[in-house]
Order: sequence, then structure tokens, then C-alpha cells
Amino acid sequence: MNIAIISRGEFLYSTQSLLRAGEARNHTMEVLNPNNFTLSVSSDKVILQYLDEIVDDIDAIIPRIGASNTFQGTSLVRQFEAAGVFSAVTSESILYSRDKWTCFQILAKAGIPVPNTVLGGYHTPEDLLKPFNGRPVIIKILEGTHGNGVILSESYRNALATVETLQTSGVKYVLQEFIAESEGADLRVIVVDGVVIAAMKRSCKEGDFRSNLHRGGSATAISLTYEEERVALKAAKALRLGVCGVDILQSQRGPLVLEVNSTPGLEGIETTTGKNVSKSIIGYLERNKR
Ligand code: ADP
Repeated sequence: MNIAIISRGEFLYSTQSLLRAGEARNHTMEVLNPNNFTLSVSSDKVILQYLDEIVDDIDAIIPRIGASNTFQGTSLVRQFEAAGVFSAVTSESILYSRDKWTCFQILAKAGIPVPNTVLGGYHTPEDLLKPFNGRPVIIKILEGTHGNGVILSESYRNALATVETLQTSGVKYVLQEFIAESEGADLRVIVVDGVVIAAMKRSCKEGDFRSNLHRGGSATAISLTYEEERVALKAAKALRLGVCGVDILQSQRGPLVLEVNSTPGLEGIETTTGKNVSKSIIGYLERNKR
């Protein structure tokens, strides 16, 4: 097969791992930078041009679209889809999972447990904070990543000022119950084609409450409970993601899904668990090529 990885970071660990996994299976692999495409449509066809060449020989793509590049990246994936090329994750699923609020709405509709969450922007700050009854609250900017834009407000006074600030600056955000018992840790579960491939527990560094590895958190491989596995698979299915990372908080009332990531980083999970996630992704493409 001709497989293209759509990425601006040819030398990133994830890209290199996917390249190696594809080459090990004798596929022709290439990395295409989304910035180098020209997309056009006419009455009867969609046209994909990469630098000066028309692209018409690719069987499958693996989008690795950065959060800062969502519009351009998903337009490109949609163009490939329109041209009949199989994508490891669909443009629609990337869009749905990327917006934290849309993601929560889809998860809740599918009956998947999530932390109690309120969309900001409506009502007054006082009204928005009422459901939290003075308890610590997490305030999250909708398009933040790597734990940036996730605030823990432990006092009502601080929460009110933070919400007022976001409200006046026009930033989109949610308010969420703080799951204190997760103790600054969460689970990252990689699901490929409806199967859990790898799972790790991430713990925050001292003095933080966010377990993101980018923030200096640490990770260990774990085995999931039956319920955690069930919830992770349901979340991947609800967002129709063939490949994803499901983040889960362990709460007193069971696993709660925090986020579903359509472009999960592979370095942390592969080095922590020793599992070859890239190989599973290539296998998924092989079963679904055009
Ligand atoms: P990002 O997408 O920026 O990583 P997340 O929503 O995943 O943002 O939050 C980052 C981290 O903050 C999580 O991995 C988790 O450790 C912590 N966290 C987020 N929401 C909550 C919450 N409601 N209760 C407790 N910890 C949370």
C-alpha cells in the first residue's frame, strides 16, 4: 500500500514510529506536510496537489493534525476522503473530538460517564457557579491542549473572578467538577479498531494537578479493570474514532471520560508500555484500504 502520514513534524517520535511500522510491513510510506497542499474542487472532482504534483496514488492516510491546524488539517483529510482514500481517523471525528464541549455532549448522549460539566458563556458567572455549591471547580478553555488552559479554582472567590475574566474576554470554556480523588492522575487508553492496544497511568509532578506528560508528569503501564476497558471502547465508538487515546479519571463513582484524542502522542505510550501501537494502526489501515 501507499500510506501517507499527514504531519508537519517528520522527525517527531510518533511520525518516525509509524514510518518504521509501515516499512516493516513492506508498505511505501511517506510524510506529507499539510502546509504544502493545494486543495481545489470542480463540478465533477476534487483535486489534491502536493507542491507541483497531483496526488492520486495514495491508498490510506494517517492524519497527525496539530490543534493549531484543525481547520486546514480537517479540510485536507476531507479532501482525501472525497477522493476515496481511507483515513485512520475521519475529518468529522477529528472535529468532534477536538472541541471538548462537543466531545462531552457526544459522550453523554451515548451514556458514557463524564465529570459533571457546564458550558460557560451563558448566564451570569454567579449562575454558572451555582451547581458547584462552593466546591473546588475546574475551569477549562475549550481549545486548550497539554493541560494549558485548565485551571483549578479552589475558592468561590477565585472561580468567580476567573469566570468573569473569561466571560469578558470572549474565550469559550467549560466549568467542571473537580475529581479530587483521582489525585492528579489519569489513565490514557489507546484504542485501535475497537480494541484496547495499550494503557498507562499518568501522574502529575509535585505541586500540579494535571497529569500531562508534557508538563513533567510520569507514567506507568497498567491493566484496566473491566469497567475502564468498557468505557474506553464505548467512547472510541461514540466518536467513531478508529484510532484514539481515551483519557479517563478514576473517581469514586467509577471511570469518567475526560477527553478523546484523535491524534494521541505515541512516544509516552509506546515507551511506557512496550506496546507497538504504530503496528496496530498500520494493521487497521491494511484491513480497510480503499
Ligand atoms: P488537555 O486536553 O489540555 O490535556 P484535560 O482536560 O485532559 O486537558 O486536563 C489536563 C489534566 O488535568 C488531566 O489529564 C487531569 O490530570 C487534570 N484534570 C482535568 N480535568 C479534571 C477534573 N475535572 N478533575 C480532576 N483533574 C482534572
